[in-house]
Amino acid sequence: MAKYVYFFGGEKAEGGEQLRNLLGGKGAGLAEMVNIGIPVPPGFTITTEVCTLFYEKGGQLPEGLTDEVLANLKRVEGLMGMRFGDPANPLLLSIRSGARASMPGMMDTVLNLGLNGSTVKGLADLTGNEWFAWDCFRRFAAMYGDVVLGLKPESKEEEDPFEEIIDEKKRAKGIKLDTEFTVDDLKDLVARFKALIKQKLSVEFPEDPLEQLWGAIGAVFKSWNNARAIAYRKLNGIPGSWGTAVNVQSMVFGNIGQDSGTGVAFTRNPSTGENEFYGEYLLNAQGEDVVAGTRTPLPISKKAKAQKGDPSMPCLEEEMPQAYAQLLQIRSTLERRFRDMQDEEFTIQRGKLWMLQTRTGKRTAFAEFKIAVDMVKEGLISKEEALMRVSPDGLNQILRPIFDPKEVEKALKGGKLMTKGLNAGPGAATGRVVYNAEDAEAWAARGEQVILVRIETSPEDIRGMNAAQGILTSRGGMTSHAALVARQMGKVCVAGCGDLDISYRTKTIKIKSTTLGEGDYVSINGSTGEVFAGQIKTIPSEVLRVLVDKTLKPEESPIYQDFESLMKWADEARRLGVRTNADQPDQAAVAIAFGAEGIGLCRTEHMFFEGARIDAVREMIVAEDLEGRKKALAKLLPMQKGDFTGLFKVMKGLPVTIRTLDPPLHEFLPHGEKELKDLAAKMGITYDRLASKVASLQETNPMLGLRGCRLGILYPEITEMQARAIFEAACDVKRGGLEVKPEIMIPLVGDVDELRLQKDLVDRVAKEVFASSATSVDYKVGTMIEIPRAALTADEIATVAEFFSFGTNDLTQMTFGMSRDDAGKFLRLYVEKDVLDYDPFQRLDEGGVGRLMRRGIELGRGARPGLKIGICGEHGGEPNSVKFCHKLGLDYVSCSPYRVTVARLAAAQAAIEEKRGKKEAD
Ligand code: PEP
Ligand code: MG
Repeated sequence: MAKYVYFFGGEKAEGGEQLRNLLGGKGAGLAEMVNIGIPVPPGFTITTEVCTLFYEKGGQLPEGLTDEVLANLKRVEGLMGMRFGDPANPLLLSIRSGARASMPGMMDTVLNLGLNGSTVKGLADLTGNEWFAWDCFRRFAAMYGDVVLGLKPESKEEEDPFEEIIDEKKRAKGIKLDTEFTVDDLKDLVARFKALIKQKLSVEFPEDPLEQLWGAIGAVFKSWNNARAIAYRKLNGIPGSWGTAVNVQSMVFGNIGQDSGTGVAFTRNPSTGENEFYGEYLLNAQGEDVVAGTRTPLPISKKAKAQKGDPSMPCLEEEMPQAYAQLLQIRSTLERRFRDMQDEEFTIQRGKLWMLQTRTGKRTAFAEFKIAVDMVKEGLISKEEALMRVSPDGLNQILRPIFDPKEVEKALKGGKLMTKGLNAGPGAATGRVVYNAEDAEAWAARGEQVILVRIETSPEDIRGMNAAQGILTSRGGMTSHAALVARQMGKVCVAGCGDLDISYRTKTIKIKSTTLGEGDYVSINGSTGEVFAGQIKTIPSEVLRVLVDKTLKPEESPIYQDFESLMKWADEARRLGVRTNADQPDQAAVAIAFGAEGIGLCRTEHMFFEGARIDAVREMIVAEDLEGRKKALAKLLPMQKGDFTGLFKVMKGLPVTIRTLDPPLHEFLPHGEKELKDLAAKMGITYDRLASKVASLQETNPMLGLRGCRLGILYPEITEMQARAIFEAACDVKRGGLEVKPEIMIPLVGDVDELRLQKDLVDRVAKEVFASSATSVDYKVGTMIEIPRAALTADEIATVAEFFSFGTNDLTQMTFGMSRDDAGKFLRLYVEKDVLDYDPFQRLDEGGVGRLMRRGIELGRGARPGLKIGICGEHGGEPNSVKFCHKLGLDYVSCSPYRVTVARLAAAQAAIEEKRGKKEAD
């Protein structure tokens, strides 16, 4: 029979890290801690398989589970010397979720389970603390009422019904803090909570501890499919089939008195990645108080306290030096065991330290980077592991802008600094204030940049946080939900700005004389914690300033140095080449600074729009005959030659793929009456003639009309001019002493003869130019594969093409039959409704477009062994697609300059994954 339950506690656990999929992250972490001798309150994990069965059986728990749970409960009772439900010596339990991947705060938890009218007295006697026992009971009654029985606020304006009763009582008594309640107050709260449950739900609050236990287990399994957990999974690509485990564990109490406490710690700073123990705690509190952000916790170390600049502030290192020393020891044990930064929860009960959780800690992109590089240097992990730990999206964040220091100075002088909170998620964000997640989503959908302002965030806010540029809260510490989730999403976040007075009702933030309303601008610096009224201009990140602007020296920027190390390792690991899509020398220079190894796509039409040359282009389009067109093209030739000369010089011998003209001609002409009149006057032709020319070029479906090679076939003189410009530039540059490697690429080919016609023309021009300039350069003529027919006849096409480059923008458009310009309207909905897992214009559709590519590669290389093949559609810079391209065996990807580093990392990861896959197969 299947084993559903795994015990942990005492000296040895039944599970461990190797059973992570079955036990979930929390369960595996607890078991592993037991196995390496760290004090953990005993308990047991009900596996993720049970969750799957629970859903398969329509909410029924599998047979046999009851016996296993009861047997394991006995073992817990034995180790603790207490009994569940025993009025004299009651064992209390915590029931927590724990999926394979961490989903902080998304699922449910029940604490203090096992309390009822008689065990609460037992707990009071046992601890000699009646207040504590009743405080536990009122917490439990509210939590159970909410999580298990489902008594929640009915709308977003409403407060939590249990909190409302608490607030009402505080008002009536004229007190502010929970700690000011008397024992009788707490008893009264429990009675009122029970009455509310009865009144609203028509059920009695269960007195039987076992009934409570099964209720809570079922509720945690159900919470796997609550709306926020589903939303979180979607954002983070966690499959719904994984399920959650349930951890049932003996309670230990951090809220028995001032000799007790609870906290959260990171083995390294999760914000900066600094190798320092970092954490927060509260004395006389339960774990939820720290993470929920309702009380702002205190720093654990003297160093962190010193940074806060308040000498009167307590810290754990001073208040409980023994527990702190033990925590430090556990910190290094855990890092050595897990070889990664850990996020731990601990409770100190009457001076004794217990660890309640360890997991891989969420961190900012900056920290992710620093920790990965540092751990290689410390010999904890290999370079390959470091590369696998840095997410391509995280890498992107390091390149993001920061506030312009000059603008910050101005804002400071202008009295715009409102306050300073915790620097919970680094980076700079400026946007308009919104006060709830729904508004954040709605405003962002209409193109506004917003900052989500909340008193504290809860898991319900997740979608709004995702839509916002940044998050600002008035409550909660570095480990609050807002901080944790923001860090993971890569959002700028300033948390715990206690002196901001935020009102949801009036939609205002007040501080001293400043008030900001909905829609007003606010700027937050998640690296320093500063909050400014108004907008502040941003400037490039440190890495960009070193690489591109050259306004910072490498040795002045530790972030850059880490970046450089990691990118070097990535280049050593990857097989896939990385080129860039660039049309201008300055763009190409940026891409080279980011490590591009060539140009994979130069869209020459972009050059046609430049300055005065658009006039010559228009002259060419409206020309009556070949003569007229040639005259106009002759004007364009020197300009195009200049463009290519510039590119070749910047690229210094790296390959440069230049595509002949692609878009339909009418795109170069204006449309409105006034614009047409102006142009006609400028060109010295009549308005009517121009208007009729524009009308004659109009197409019903221009994407499938006269564009790409069709243009060059109809008007060979255009291709001829472009080819001449390329070769003349190449010969000039070569004569100047630089290598040149032009690759001429013919777009939108669907039949080999289209390519043949254009290639013959290009070859003829090459010969002519080489002869007249007495120089020759090596060049290639190839084609884009962006029409399904091209992929399916790639063997024929490869007899002429000397290289392929997949144009996956058009290939996706034509494979799906979805216009790339119009699909945005419905694709978002498609993804929301799960018709498609993702937008195929952003991430390559492996099942359809990918299959065509695979076929195209097989046929192409079958006909021309060793054929060089790349990709230059937008997918070339999207990490998942880059990995897919590696698997397909492409030679290179080409993407926009700012995505080059991400592509290099993704390419390295793909190579490492392949190597690991091979090792596993052996
Ligand atoms: C493509 O279609 O993928 C491509 C790179 O060309 P364009 O986007 O210019 O059509
Ligand atoms: Mg295209």
